[in-house]
Amino acid sequence: MTRPFLAASTLDELKSYCKEHGFPAFRASQIDSWLHTHLTIDPADMKNLPSDLKSALKQDFHAPGSLISESSKSPDQVEKLLLKLHDGECIEMVIIPSDKRLTFCLSTQVGCPVGCYFCASGRNGLTRNLSAGEMIEEFCIGSLRAGRPDNLVFMGIGEGLLNFDNLAITLNRLADEFTFSPRRITVSTSGFVPGMEKFAALKREFNLAVSLHAPDDNTRAKLIPAKLRYPVAEVLAAADKIAENNNRQYTIEYTLIDGINDSIEHAVKLGKLAFAHHAKINLIPYNETGGSFRRPATQKIDDFENAVANTGARVTRRIERGSAETAACGQLRAAKSNEVSK
Ligand code: SAH
Ligand code: SF4
Repeated sequence: MTRPFLAASTLDELKSYCKEHGFPAFRASQIDSWLHTHLTIDPADMKNLPSDLKSALKQDFHAPGSLISESSKSPDQVEKLLLKLHDGECIEMVIIPSDKRLTFCLSTQVGCPVGCYFCASGRNGLTRNLSAGEMIEEFCIGSLRAGRPDNLVFMGIGEGLLNFDNLAITLNRLADEFTFSPRRITVSTSGFVPGMEKFAALKREFNLAVSLHAPDDNTRAKLIPAKLRYPVAEVLAAADKIAENNNRQYTIEYTLIDGINDSIEHAVKLGKLAFAHHAKINLIPYNETGGSFRRPATQKIDDFENAVANTGARVTRRIERGSAETAACGQLRAAKSNEVSK
């Protein structure tokens, strides 16, 4: 049987565990407080527990299952952590401080089955889904290192909506057990419509970001392989349904790539589309990952942004943070697995 993750346990589950193993009920409340208030996931650090309970927890749970195996900090204090999972697989998370707030960027899968042509995360396909426990551990491990964050974005490695059941448990536990406001959590999707429909059915105020990258299907086909790509109209209809259910304006993410999706024509079409759908646009200048795609020249990015803004749509540009060589999602892990395969 696979061991559960202590990080994903609810108070009720902890009470049942204590009862089953002959520990008094108040011990469950103590563990609950270590976990959900102090974000401590290693029983060794739960100072008021007796040693027999600490060893029982350590034996019966992954507590923790993941460990930081590497970290790199850029001059502007963005820290990327490579986490080694209990089976030896690796994922990344990124800690992004700014003047006003602390944001964590979290992964949802080991690898990614979508395989967008420009993205390092999907280069070797999917290895496996992350469990809810592993996603919650990312939150706890990051918090122990940098403090409790203000915002969580599921924009690391993987397509979270293809791991919907585990992602939904994670989102609900973060909101209900860790009292993290759903309005401060964002899920980014490449536009996997069946998953978006399930996300809409959650009817909670989690934010949605849709990686559209193109205002038309022909351009989009140059970026996302056919097997998991849905038409622009269906993706936006699913996003509208989510907005209707959660009362939140969604974001259209648009990774700008030279000569592919960065013409003024694209910009005008994108702006009109976003305006009609009441969505805001976030432009992401492409981070080169060793393939043939290039980032457009700065002037071209500025012109694109102005052309979008002139349509009346709300548009922002992602502020460039982190070290250039590993800034894009999946790059640190990709670099690591190249090293291993050498
Ligand atoms: N699978 C989800 C979430 C993870 S990717 C999705 O695709 O939305 C998060 C964002 O990072 C996406 O918008 C993606 O297009 C962008 N991204 C991936 N690789 C990038 C790169 N090399 N440069 C810039 N943005 C990149
Ligand atoms: Fe997967 Fe998102 Fe990367 Fe596409 S951009 S391969 S969906 S992680």
